[in-house]
Amino acid sequence: MIIKVDQSKCSGCKKCIEICPVNAIEEDIVSIDMSRCIKCRSCAVSCPSKAIVIK
Ligand code: SF4
Ligand code: SF4
Repeated sequence: MIIKVDQSKCSGCKKCIEICPVNAIEEDIVSIDMSRCIKCRSCAVSCPSKAIVIK
């Protein structure tokens, strides 16, 4: 499974960063560090812009 931020949709609201339980989302460009991500999907559910894609 790959979880990715679609930069063209991201508004930079940072909700995903606040909700991630393992601090796997980097703030400067809002990207997910897959080595830390536990694939809980909370970020995708919380994103108001539907910018987080799960494949
Ligand atoms: S799926 Fe969960 S652990 Fe992975 S980046 Fe999103 S909130 Fe963080
Ligand atoms: S919640 Fe969605 S729109 Fe907000 S910073 Fe994260 S990816 Fe971007």
